[in-house]
Amino acid sequence: MKAHILGFPRIGTHRELKHILEAYWSGSIPLKTLNLRTAKLRQEHWQIQQDSGLDTVATGDFSLYDHMLDTALMLGAVPPRFNTIPSSCPENLYFRMARGDAEYGITAMEMTKWFDTNYHYIVPEFTEGMELKYSSSKLVDETREAIANGFFPKPVLVGPLTFLQLAKDMDGGNRWDYLDTILGIYETVIAELAQLADCIQLDEPVLCTDLPDEVKALAPRVYEKLKSAAGKSDLMLATYFGKLEDNLEWVAELPVDVLHIDLVHGSGQLQQVLKKWPKEKQLSLGVVNGRNIWKTYGIKATQLLRNAIDNQGSEKLWIGSSCSLLHSPVDLQQETELDPELRDWMAFAVQKCDEISFLREAALSSDMDRILQENIKSIRNRKSSPRTLNPAIRQRTENITSAMTERRAPFSVRIKEQQNRLNLPPFPTTTIGSFPQTNEIRRTRRAFRTGQCSDADYQEFIRKEIRDVIRTQEEIGLDVLVHGEAERNDMVEYFGQQLEGFCFTQNGWVQSYGSRCVKPPIIYGDVSRAASMTVEWTRYAQEQTDKPLKGMLTGPVTILCWSFVRDDLPRSEVCRQLALAIRDEVQDLEAAGISIIQIDEAALREGMPLRIADRQDYLDWAVDGFRLTVGGVKNSTQIHTHMCYSEFNAIAKAIAAMDADVVSIESSRSGMELLDAFKDFEYPNDIGPGVWDIHSPRVPSEEEIFDLLQKARKVIPDERLWVNPDCGLKTRAWPETLASLNNMVAATLRLRHDLPR
Ligand code: GLN
Ligand code: ZN
Repeated sequence: MKAHILGFPRIGTHRELKHILEAYWSGSIPLKTLNLRTAKLRQEHWQIQQDSGLDTVATGDFSLYDHMLDTALMLGAVPPRFNTIPSSCPENLYFRMARGDAEYGITAMEMTKWFDTNYHYIVPEFTEGMELKYSSSKLVDETREAIANGFFPKPVLVGPLTFLQLAKDMDGGNRWDYLDTILGIYETVIAELAQLADCIQLDEPVLCTDLPDEVKALAPRVYEKLKSAAGKSDLMLATYFGKLEDNLEWVAELPVDVLHIDLVHGSGQLQQVLKKWPKEKQLSLGVVNGRNIWKTYGIKATQLLRNAIDNQGSEKLWIGSSCSLLHSPVDLQQETELDPELRDWMAFAVQKCDEISFLREAALSSDMDRILQENIKSIRNRKSSPRTLNPAIRQRTENITSAMTERRAPFSVRIKEQQNRLNLPPFPTTTIGSFPQTNEIRRTRRAFRTGQCSDADYQEFIRKEIRDVIRTQEEIGLDVLVHGEAERNDMVEYFGQQLEGFCFTQNGWVQSYGSRCVKPPIIYGDVSRAASMTVEWTRYAQEQTDKPLKGMLTGPVTILCWSFVRDDLPRSEVCRQLALAIRDEVQDLEAAGISIIQIDEAALREGMPLRIADRQDYLDWAVDGFRLTVGGVKNSTQIHTHMCYSEFNAIAKAIAAMDADVVSIESSRSGMELLDAFKDFEYPNDIGPGVWDIHSPRVPSEEEIFDLLQKARKVIPDERLWVNPDCGLKTRAWPETLASLNNMVAATLRLRHDLPR
């Protein structure tokens, strides 16, 4: 039985990649240094895999920004707007595609969530008349590099079906028209790789989704070509993030040598796969979760493996991670401050490599109990620990009634009372919550955390930040103000730190996009709120202004989606516990006189199951969770929510069912594609489609924002249209923030001026 992983995290134990990239972007290191340092990272990652006893190391899983962008570049799929800029080197073209170019006023390519994870990929664009050609040998180079360093590589690349399915058509282009050209390039690459490696992994996570028939029909021809390019080398078809289900039948007939299946997110599919997958071919079993931080339940995994061994024989089997470890933090060894009891329940990427190795041993040995001894002890401790269970909370969730999820009156009644109270002008302007987090803010927060800044000094510092940001918003002329979130390092962590049932790591970073990483909190036990979490700052901020101040909370679904969640309780139940905690906070804010409260559900969409059949159930409990947080608040209290994506269509009904008075949604990055949804579905409440893409430092002009708003007015009635950026501004710098918000307000004033009186 062979042991492998589908990919390793790229960022490094201490986010080295982030530091390297940012140093390069700021001009403080040359390209040569970037290349040297990233090569060192790869070397370290390969060493870890080899030291764990894995049979191969993944190559090509490393990326300077994103693997979809790497693939686009390999194919030469460069959107025409980037060809207008003289390019000094391929790397700069690459980074420009990812991040846009402020100097030339060129927008970045769109970015969106990778399946149901919190990783963002760059969406490849296909324009009519694009000329594709093999343009980047990165994968081959890195594979050579691994060999030169004494490793045994298994190159990894995104399969053509997944690549095209996730790409988008632009300006009348049709990406599937390019299939043959693309296949030609894949054939070239695979033939080169076949000289270097025994097995080549093609990632096709789309095979775990509901695929259009046209795509299914293309698969046999695609894989016949790729297989013949691979010659004697094996092709591994890697499926993950779910079960194959209805796709299994035809996938089992594809001319590939190894099929990888996810037995974590696709648990329960082993029997069906064993039945369909030809016995003479190889099968890879993903039994170690690539997406969480918990130790694998060793006995269960071993039983699965043995079951497959009985069926298939061990020579034909691989054991691996369920998906790439990209979504796990790097090394638990670094966590010196974690409570030892909790730490003993966990495994990060490095430890997962070890797990894969000893699980193989356990499955093949007659002495499973001895090999799994430590694992069994940890799993048993976790199961019986009183720290995971709080009877009072269980009782409280049991007593939730549907009345608790209702507002007091319908929107039409509420909005009038809100308007009387708030007196907002047409097209009210606001922001999504955070303002730039300057170095000074970060430094002071760190000093406070490490005890170098006194409590009193810290309080005064945050108060001053609040005063400053309020004054700035008044100067800009915004209508609904925010306190700026200077006290928050992260919108989930901030709340998690004040809730029971959470723990935190020092270095548990995972990549979100490019150089941006997040450090998800860990929910290990029942969740509850000990004391109010935001009231003090929010009240202080409101005292500084006569304009309405919007209180800022993170919603239960988003906390859930952006945390590592316990796997011993259904997510829906953890969501209910979180919702009750946020509900307590909403009630405290209302009692403190706050008239507008925003509950961010930035992640509602990405938490959606990949399979259509599973979605309604998720949406039901997710929407209920949100409604539970605001059920019962006064009619005159205006509830906002915010979402960080533009694919509104799929969940328009659910968003409407949340019944927030105002929703803000990202949309400028995709040129207001969002608005198409409103042609078929009239969103009943107020809405603010984002008019400034805050993912890039580019400042949108007044004209541009005005045009976007005019577009929005075609489908959203004037009295329900709000004006706001795409998302929070914490990653932006002040100069572009001021310039963009000033343009946003100017565009709004122009709009108001044009209104008939
Ligand atoms: N209120 C949060 C902020 O502005 C929302 C961020 C988000 O949606 N990702 O930072
Ligand atoms: Zn957002």
